[in-house]
This record gives sequence, structure tokens and C-alpha cells, in this order.
Amino acid sequence: MRILIVEDEKGIANFLKEGLEEEYFAVDVAYDGTSGLEMALTNEYDLLLVDWMLPGISGIEVVRQVRKEKPRVPIIFLTARDTVQDIVFGLEVGANDYIRKPFEFEELLARIRVQLRTKEGETSVLTLGDLELNLNTHQAFRNGEEVNLTPREFALLEFLIRNKGKVCTRTRIIEHVWDIHFDSDTSIIDVYINALRKKLNAGEKKNLIHTVRGIGYIAREDS
Ligand code: CA
Repeated sequence: MRILIVEDEKGIANFLKEGLEEEYFAVDVAYDGTSGLEMALTNEYDLLLVDWMLPGISGIEVVRQVRKEKPRVPIIFLTARDTVQDIVFGLEVGANDYIRKPFEFEELLARIRVQLRTKEGETSVLTLGDLELNLNTHQAFRNGEEVNLTPREFALLEFLIRNKGKVCTRTRIIEHVWDIHFDSDTSIIDVYINALRKKLNAGEKKNLIHTVRGIGYIAREDS
């Protein structure tokens, strides 16, 4: 899943980027409101983390404008302010949640997971048939047996399972699993899918990731 951080304090922004990448998120960073807004409107993010006090456009304004175009993307505010009025205002312009600085990374991560929960309400374990993905420990299990995946393989599988039963185009996969530095050759996805299938289907297990010719892939139990 792909996250945009809009935060002008580079120390905090980089700390967050590193921490979230360790949790297998694809992460982009904007250091001011203007580029943050532009990136938020141009790219497909699964969640935005927006600081309140920013050079250029304020965090409040970023949220307000993003909301007009993208009513559903979850937004969490980072704020050093903690008066009730400020927080109420932040939520009123369209943020889904907020966290006060200074904060514990673990708490922020938990709040991110809540915002990204699936329709079934799962926040830390995703399933598809006999396949289980634990988002906290980054372990994958097939029929109870652990399958060792690289961070990118895990992230790709997470995206497919979050969208199980729906066709994921190559473009959408790239937009949600890779960050802005991706160099645009989408055939890399096929390489990752092949590696994933090899690992997941070892011992001739049923294939769960199906090719939709010319379009992309779908995670589904039947064939
Ligand atoms: Ca700031």
C-alpha cells in the first residue's frame, strides 16, 4: 500500500518514511503543502499523512482540496497543536483521524492500520482461502506453513488480497505497490508474480493468483 507523507520537518519526514518502508509500505514524501497537494491529486495513494503547519499551502488547505477530488482516501493529520478546536476543525475539513506530536511510531502505525482495514474489518491478518498474511509480523502462511517472501513480494500479495475477487490492472498495481521512483517498465510485475506463484504454489497447491490476459491479475480461490 502506498502512503504520501506531507511534512516539512525533514527529520520527522525521513523517520516516518523509513519506519513505514520497514512495514512494507511504498512511501513518497513532500516537504511543502504545494507539492504535497499536487502529488496527492496526481498519484493514487492509499493513505495521506499531512502535517498541519506547512510552508506554502497549509495542511488544512491540502486536506480541504484533496477532499473535493478524492472523497475516500484516508487522511491522518499530524499536529503539534492540541486544542480541541484545532482538532475538531481538522476533522471537519475532512481528515479521518489525527495524531499529536510527539507521537510513538507504534501508535501511528496502529492508526494507519485501522484506516486501511478491509471490508471484513481485518486490520492485521488478511486471508484468501488457505493463505494468510500477517501484516504485523510480515509472515505469510499457506495451509499453516510459512512461506518466505521478500518485502516487495509481500506488498504485492497484500495489495492483491485486499482487492480479492477484483481485477487489478498493471497500472493500479504499480501505483499502489511501488513508490514515485518506479521507472515505468510494468513487466517487472510479471517477474514478481511468477516468483510469488512459485513460492505460494509449492507442493502443487491450488493457484490463487490468476492472469487476466492483457490487463493484469486477480486474486481468487477458484480457477
Ligand atoms: Ca510543520
